[in-house]
Amino acid sequence: GATIGILGGGQLGRMLSVAASRLGLRTHVFEPGANPPAGHVADAVTTASYEDHDALAEFAASVDVITYEFENIPTAALDVLQELRPIRPGREALRVSQDRLTEKTFLTDLGLRTAPFADITDADSLAAALEVIGTPAILKTRRFGYDGKGQARILGPEDAAKALEDMRGAPAILEGFVEFSCEVSVIAARSADGSVACFDPGENIHREGILRTTTVPARLSGKQRTDAVLLAAQILNALNYVGVMGVELFVTPQGLLVNEMAPRVHNSGHWTQNGCTIDQFEQHIRAVANWPLGDGSRYADVQMENLIGDDLDRLPELAREADTAIHLYGKGAVKAGRKMGHVNRIIRG
Ligand code: ATP
Ligand code: MG
Ligand code: MG
Repeated sequence: GATIGILGGGQLGRMLSVAASRLGLRTHVFEPGANPPAGHVADAVTTASYEDHDALAEFAASVDVITYEFENIPTAALDVLQELRPIRPGREALRVSQDRLTEKTFLTDLGLRTAPFADITDADSLAAALEVIGTPAILKTRRFGYDGKGQARILGPEDAAKALEDMRGAPAILEGFVEFSCEVSVIAARSADGSVACFDPGENIHREGILRTTTVPARLSGKQRTDAVLLAAQILNALNYVGVMGVELFVTPQGLLVNEMAPRVHNSGHWTQNGCTIDQFEQHIRAVANWPLGDGSRYADVQMENLIGDDLDRLPELAREADTAIHLYGKGAVKAGRKMGHVNRIIRG
């Protein structure tokens, strides 16, 4: 069988490895950090930095196709890898999604709607943007933000200076605050032949910037569900995308706004492990390994709950719950805000 190269050895890389293994494929994980969660399940692990171009080339030569669990792969590393093996999803998806400004510009160029946004380089551009966008607003670093890190709320002009300081000189964008009725995400997949399949949209609840739960079905009308799936398909087609993508949406009375997209399997798609015959991880592996997409239709109502930090203390009770599947990531140290695992609860009507 073929070998899938996976950049990143976190929980997403781990669950991709498990899915590949079930399909009789081998996996080789590239991860700079020691003792990565994916290391326990992958067939091979390379521990090296993305600056080590020899190690990258050796890794690439040992696999048939390269995929990734996170979007912040350095461009120079991608250049080395691309010479040797196909990277799926492709470079364009990474380029667009590595930077919130590029991403929002791409989305609005496609005719999709986002929160109002502006490029912020200094106090003057922030003051000018606040004039147009108004408050409340959110200042976000353009790159490297996740779990709500690198964001500062601006409730009034008096918060501007402090918010800019919080960016520590990093390029940023200002976003108008969206009064959404709920947040949903679409986990969408596209194969090399251009077929697209979307999982049923899930409804997301965040706390302190971190995803806590995803529930399916989301509280959406038929029209909203159709709009969500169509706009995700439009994004995948525009990028000639191969693999799974997570698209986060704000539901508003005026329609759906795109919050952000992630060119990879997504935390809000973990419910598919226990709600569908083919989950997001297998779907991604199928796409990048040139298999036909699988049947991702939903056969159960599910609530996914992330186990963050000392939520793990509840494991004894969780293990006794009926209809609850436990997924742990094998991370050593428990830290506040660290995703340690998740549970998928089947909801019986
Ligand atoms: P992730 O871990 O999903 O990658 P992130 O750090 O990239 O998160 P965002 O998705 O941009 O952060 O924001 C985190 C959450 O903050 C959103 O899911 C939403 O609840 C809230 N949020 C972000 N931007 C806005 C906005 N413009 N208006 C209202 N709420 C927002
Ligand atoms: Mg994000
Ligand atoms: Mg997000």
